[in-house]
Amino acid sequence: MASSKITLPGRARPRRLRRTQTIRDLVGETEVTARELVMPHFVLPSASGTEPIPSMPGIAQVGIENLLREVERDLELGIRAVLLFGHPDIGGKTPDGTAAAAADGAVQRAVGRLKGDFGDALVVMTDVCLCAYTDHGHCGVLGEDDVDNDATLAPLAAAALSHARAGADVVAPSDMMDGRVAAIRDALDSQGFADVVLLSYAVKYASAYYGPFRDAADSTPASGDRKSYQMDCRNVREALREARLDEQEGADMLMVKPALAYLDVIRAVRESTVLPLAAYNVSGEYSAVKAAAANGWLDEPAVVRENLLAIRRAGADQIITYHAREALRGRWL
Ligand SMILES: [Zn+2]
Repeated sequence: MASSKITLPGRARPRRLRRTQTIRDLVGETEVTARELVMPHFVLPSASGTEPIPSMPGIAQVGIENLLREVERDLELGIRAVLLFGHPDIGGKTPDGTAAAAADGAVQRAVGRLKGDFGDALVVMTDVCLCAYTDHGHCGVLGEDDVDNDATLAPLAAAALSHARAGADVVAPSDMMDGRVAAIRDALDSQGFADVVLLSYAVKYASAYYGPFRDAADSTPASGDRKSYQMDCRNVREALREARLDEQEGADMLMVKPALAYLDVIRAVRESTVLPLAAYNVSGEYSAVKAAAANGWLDEPAVVRENLLAIRRAGADQIITYHAREALRGRWL
């Protein structure tokens, strides 16, 4: 081809940088490594036991001894952070969810065992919410006709404190009550836990993508929905307000949840704060990929890599994802 026919501006040919895999790797802008991944776990109150979650292939609720073995294997893959969700013992659900703060609860015992076995090699994060512990399944104490925001703050702070006492490195309130970050920070500081990190689910949308999780956490509301406390999926300015308030109340890290349908929100929050920002690649996002892959409709390793890279590219520093173990074991990233 004669060079006189070239009409590109200047001599620019972006394809030069895409010619070989090694050149593409050299100029790749975004990366997902084990360091950024957080593996969620559903902890049963029993010592052993594994209850597969049908809507989340590959994920199970596990007893504490099984959890320890899973985490040990995951550490060998490089997964150095876990996020724990718990269950009360059978019959432990009450209107005010007090079992969430039980010193001998599944999460509290699991935290103690994990920190005992792995120490600072593992970052143990705990989800702080009441919904798995209330008999009505809402994330707070019920008032006249809705969740009573202010009456929920004390039980939430008590739950966070019980996790801190058990040895949690990071407590992560996910309830979306106003003022809970300040209430939890005050409780932690006044009881000698000033070093415990507070990761706020600052921007959590009322999302249909949580469907499979509710099977796993057994936390579907008995009536109504969570739209009076979780965010409306139409809004992004509201996300910035939530993030700013939580930062002012003392959050050390922020989270956007879900991730893939909210990449614009991750980007907007990223640009509005200098705090570390996590994104939760939620159960429905995981299950959708799994279902399509099981049908042969999607190439799972390639799609998982693309999804996780998208979340990082949008601006998330950490990704909480059920894909973490398989993605690392299979070298999908
Ligand atoms: Zn909840």
